Amino acid sequence: MRTVEEHLESVLAAIEPVAEEVLPLDQVHGLVLTRDVVSDVDLPRFANSAMDGYAVRATEIADITPEHPRSVPVLGDIAAGDGARHTHREGSVWRIMTGAPIPEGADAVVRVEDTDGRPREVLISHAPEAGENVRPAGDDVRAGDVILRRGTRVGATQLAILASAGVAEVAVTGPVRVVVLSTGDELVPLGEPVGPGQIHDSNGPMLVALIRAAGGTVVHTGHLPDDEKVIKKTLDHHLRDADLVITSGGVSKGGSYDAVKAVLTGTGSMEFAEVGMQPGKPQGFGLLGKRRVPLFTLPGNPVSVLVSFEVFVRPALARLAGRRHTPVTVPAVVQQGWSSPEGRQQYHRVRLTRDAAGTYAAAPVGGAGSHLVGGLAMADGLAVVPAEITQVATGAEVPVLPLRPVEEIEADLAASTDRDTTAASSGQPPSVRGSW
Ligand code: AMP
Ligand code: MG
Repeated sequence: MRTVEEHLESVLAAIEPVAEEVLPLDQVHGLVLTRDVVSDVDLPRFANSAMDGYAVRATEIADITPEHPRSVPVLGDIAAGDGARHTHREGSVWRIMTGAPIPEGADAVVRVEDTDGRPREVLISHAPEAGENVRPAGDDVRAGDVILRRGTRVGATQLAILASAGVAEVAVTGPVRVVVLSTGDELVPLGEPVGPGQIHDSNGPMLVALIRAAGGTVVHTGHLPDDEKVIKKTLDHHLRDADLVITSGGVSKGGSYDAVKAVLTGTGSMEFAEVGMQPGKPQGFGLLGKRRVPLFTLPGNPVSVLVSFEVFVRPALARLAGRRHTPVTVPAVVQQGWSSPEGRQQYHRVRLTRDAAGTYAAAPVGGAGSHLVGGLAMADGLAVVPAEITQVATGAEVPVLPLRPVEEIEADLAASTDRDTTAASSGQPPSVRGSW
């Protein structure tokens, strides 16, 4: 049996980022740049006003003080977007709006608050320094500057600088196109009625959600019967254009219904390994077809699928996308101990609350079976118990891998604290607070 770390290492060593693509900005959110991006332009592109006010030449009104304001003629208005060429004329000013080009020859802006705000002749009560309230051209970015380095993931703020610099398309590690296949004669897709002995496919929708949230692009989801011919044909088809294939089910000890394992054994670099973990022991991974497409065969039980995704598929997806995934756990104090199998790293479903000291407290949720989706849906995270530990003691500290954003867990904890306080102080049942 190999360790979780060994298996993860061998998976990551086998895969490379998908090919570079040049894509328009509206398609690159979440993708990773493969080249430095250089700006062709200065930002700001032209000197412009930081305030609504009046564009002046500072030396001409240096005599003005709040005690000795002075009226000056106004040549007209310059609004943001005004493309005309405006020039300063000695002794006068332009009324100017935020973002509008500074007229040639002017060098400062008096804020409207330091004037009486009139349009034709304005009373000014403050003498600005040269440069005051002016955003100089190139102040932020100079033409020729690298604005984003290769390896940067394009998020909201990176989109803002690319758009500002007028960059229409960028080179990125392409979107990772993932195919999800649920296998099993017993499975019925979402929305269809189940007959005797049948169950709804829950791995499919769960995997689709996990992949999307992790930045992958699901290009196909499907159901396959436990039929080797059908499985082989379907896989061959998807190996032509997928970047990653994930199957679930059909890989147990090699029983006669474990069709996925039967079809894939001996193909490509496919390896079926026992990994020292609970749940998720039977793991299959390999590169298949001419394009050497990575393929995970996950176990069938939903909890095993989730754990396998978190531990192996998520880091693999990140690598395919040109990123690195480093799992972040939060420490929690065990509220109620449990046992853990010797020699296997355990991922135990827990619910998080706060203890009296304000730290996270972790309580087991649901049973231990890997088919228990009810308990899974209640879990905030997975407590990670090292292979050598066989008993997790009450009061011990464990690292917990969150299953949803920590800020959501925090919001729920804050809401329940609010409810407790309201109920305790009023003696009333908790209710929605707020006023209109
Ligand atoms: P298997 O590895 O195919 O024997 O599946 C193990 C268990 O997981 C069985 O109880 C299956 O019915 C269940 N299972 C397999 N695939 C799915 C799925 N897509 N959704 C829900 N349960 C599944
Ligand atoms: Mg099956």
